[in-house]
Amino acid sequence: MSASQSIHLPAVDRVLVWPAVAALTDVHGRTLLLAAVRDELAMHRGSGRAVTDDDLVDGIEKRVLTNVTPSLRRVFNLTGTVLHTNLGRAPLPPEAIEAMVQVASGASNLEYDLVTGKRGDRDDHVENWLRRLTGAEAATVVNNNAAAVLLVLNTLSQRKEVIVSRGELIEIGGAFRLPAIMARAGCKLREVGTTNRTHTRDYAEAIGPKSALLLKAHTSNYRIEGFTSAPDERELAALAGTNGLPFVVDLGSGTLIDLARFGLPHEPTPAETLANGADLVTFSGDKLLGGPQAGIIVGRADLVAMIKKNPMKRAMRCDKLTIAALGAVLKLYGNPERVMQSVPAIRLLARGEDEIEALARRLRPVVAAWLGQHASVDIASVQSQIGSGSLPVDLLPSFALRITAPGAKRSSGKTLDRIASAFRALPVPVIGRISDGAFLLDLRCLEDEAGFAAGFRLPVSL
Ligand SMILES: *Cc1c(COP(=O)(O)O)cnc(C)c1O
Repeated sequence: MSASQSIHLPAVDRVLVWPAVAALTDVHGRTLLLAAVRDELAMHRGSGRAVTDDDLVDGIEKRVLTNVTPSLRRVFNLTGTVLHTNLGRAPLPPEAIEAMVQVASGASNLEYDLVTGKRGDRDDHVENWLRRLTGAEAATVVNNNAAAVLLVLNTLSQRKEVIVSRGELIEIGGAFRLPAIMARAGCKLREVGTTNRTHTRDYAEAIGPKSALLLKAHTSNYRIEGFTSAPDERELAALAGTNGLPFVVDLGSGTLIDLARFGLPHEPTPAETLANGADLVTFSGDKLLGGPQAGIIVGRADLVAMIKKNPMKRAMRCDKLTIAALGAVLKLYGNPERVMQSVPAIRLLARGEDEIEALARRLRPVVAAWLGQHASVDIASVQSQIGSGSLPVDLLPSFALRITAPGAKRSSGKTLDRIASAFRALPVPVIGRISDGAFLLDLRCLEDEAGFAAGFRLPVSL
């Protein structure tokens, strides 16, 4: 007799009528429960080990829960990287969430002009705000900044040359490589200058009958230091202008306010870049702007009109939820004095060290009690970073809960992996970072203190 025949397992139909299983069926439906019961029984039949009815019910319940828990869900980003691409970049303000709820629940005037009763343009809902905030003549939005760059290049320089400095042939997050985007846009890359130094005359010498435009990419995720030189934006704009070529700047982050206000180095804004003579500027919606994922193109009205007519625009257009959220966030910038409070991404970046330290003092005992004898928790001064390639070398002083094996100054990678995985298994997963022999929870981005503390009511399993 084989092992599989030696254990007695109940029939599927019998298990389905057990009260605990029937209760689950009432909530989640027969299809899901039937699959869970079958899979659970099959697993035990395969293992050949005896199993109690209670264990079967537990296993079935776990399977159902795994199936109904959404794959994409909220986590606590305590990595210390504020705009973390893998964790969804910028958190949205309540105004943007409410705007999305309004248009998500029913019909909206997405492409419908309520005054004339005729067809409208979805860009209309954000274009006025973008013009006001950047000083641009016109604006359009697409799915993300990578799409914005692709669309601009494809519209203005297909089968022609785009002149760009060697020092700006950037890769962002592996997936966005400027030379690859250019190839797909159908234009030819004309590199000028050297990695560390490029002068206006290098661009001037490269201009010829095949030139389509001059491109400047903001090298947002790295910095070349030492003997470097990049041409002045005004000089490049003037050079492009005298040759009848558009000057396009990919700004990347595109903050709408001066970051120097909260002690960060100045990042060029779209308004300044346009004032320097750029004909088009592209930037992301979910980096320093603090809005939804989007690619924003602002600049000369004639160029924006050409871009809007490109059939590729149709393939890259934003959906109504994005437009609703972006419109609401842009409106918050209408009151710049309040942006540090009203836009969560900016609020987190500007958050004071003292406030974060006080939070660490309140939460240390909560986390320490949960970990019990499994680990030690102390408070460490750390440095957060902005993320998404913005100001990569500029760090923000912050505080973290520093977790190690009990009493240890530093712990092994294996121990830290186990601790990190216990935090990821919390009801709202907590994502920290491992650094210098410890598991760190940088508290800069923790605003829902009560929600965070509530997760530690369950016993730890390490
Ligand atoms: C981030 C970035 C991009 C890509 O933007 P997404 O919105 O992530 O598509 C392109 N160019 C620069 C300079 C960037 O910093």
